[in-house]
Amino acid sequence: MSPKTFVRKRSEAAFQRARRVLVGGVNSPVRAFVAVGGTPPVMVRGRGARITDVDGNTYVDYVGGYGPAILGHCPQAVVTAISKAVHHGGSFGAPTEAETRLAEMIVEAFASIQKVRFTSSGTEAVMSAIRLARGATGRSKIIKCIGCYHGHSDAMLVSTGSGATTLGVPSSPGVPAGAVADTVLVPYNDLAATAAAAEAVRGQLAAVLVEPVAGNMGVVPPVGGYLAGLRKLCDEHGALLIFDEVITGFRLAYGGAQELYGVRADVTTLGKIIGGGLPVGAFGGSDEIMKHLAPQGPVYQAGTLSGNPAAMAAGVATLEMLREKGFYQRLEQASASLEAGLREAAGQAVGGKVSFNRVGSMLTCFFVCGPVVDYASATRTDTKAFAAYFHVMLRGGVYIAPSQYEAMFVSSAHGEDEIRRTVVAAAEAFAAAGGLMQRGAPDR
Ligand code: PMP
Repeated sequence: MSPKTFVRKRSEAAFQRARRVLVGGVNSPVRAFVAVGGTPPVMVRGRGARITDVDGNTYVDYVGGYGPAILGHCPQAVVTAISKAVHHGGSFGAPTEAETRLAEMIVEAFASIQKVRFTSSGTEAVMSAIRLARGATGRSKIIKCIGCYHGHSDAMLVSTGSGATTLGVPSSPGVPAGAVADTVLVPYNDLAATAAAAEAVRGQLAAVLVEPVAGNMGVVPPVGGYLAGLRKLCDEHGALLIFDEVITGFRLAYGGAQELYGVRADVTTLGKIIGGGLPVGAFGGSDEIMKHLAPQGPVYQAGTLSGNPAAMAAGVATLEMLREKGFYQRLEQASASLEAGLREAAGQAVGGKVSFNRVGSMLTCFFVCGPVVDYASATRTDTKAFAAYFHVMLRGGVYIAPSQYEAMFVSSAHGEDEIRRTVVAAAEAFAAAGGLMQRGAPDR
């Protein structure tokens, strides 16, 4: 779609209406376009790799619901499974076979998991995993990386990435100092700083919590030896290693980042993909650790909608498709081809002024010279250039997250056509960003 034919009148009206009754017109801050300016298209439907707004504009979608849509939108098997489940009843508050089946699939996928507890969101999963780690070790300190996001529970809402970074709010009013007093911050990818921080709280460290591939300061891969180093450090301190695989679980490999990098976590948090687009979260670990959880043990955790039958059915149907032979190789090929196309498009317009990070189907193009390895290097990005790039992409029919600090998510529904369309739009978008970058120093 050329910029001339791009009309969003209905979206604008729908968003104004939303603003009257929803805070900022949204239910999660990053959707509001605060970082890039303008108002968001209001979506009506998705099919495969494409989504359509209320004006009838169609976009190649790289937001993928912020991660769940690894099969694209509305895969038939998932739609059928959900509709069958809801015909049997929305929620029972009693055990169902579907939750056991999904738990079995997760246990099969992750060598480090023997028992699972489902929640309704990733936030709840991480919040509960931290309580479990504290309850199981009898200690209180948690090491967290600057720029990693683990949901919006009080203890973790300090130096988070994506939404909070985008809005320039490193933490939040309403979080009492006491709630984060036991959260120790270290830079991502910095093993020496983590070792020093662990030493400073020796005997009190319950867990090191990390996104094994950071996805909330844009995509930042772990440097060689980092995850294995964290594993060793936790063992030395008698602390638990928690991998937050809410994004990476079933995305980077069937067994998540743990399979890809060959490092086992003690506790793993999951979400997004395991709910096939419906609200879900989960955490799991060995019997030895999980037995501390109620009703087996004293660490309390609960949820009215936890293990919701429709979400469980969607998850089972999704994972069944991911298990098909060659799924992740095909996803890797499509992602590599997208990266190559974007690099070529950038090369002509912005040369060495952008930096690409990709792990499997997660990709971020930072408007910054040199490698991005942590929060400090990620936030050197030229956010004005990103905003210019973003709007040209949108007008060109490509929907990426309205923030520099998010990933592009490729799905198995992204084919050659979608990638070609993306690269064409990107050439124009990089040119617009490049023009801005030449004109002046970034305003950060
Ligand atoms: N952990 C990570 C790594 C995440 O990316 C997110 C959400 N983007 C969460 C936890 C929180 O999940 P939810 O939004 O489902 O509460």
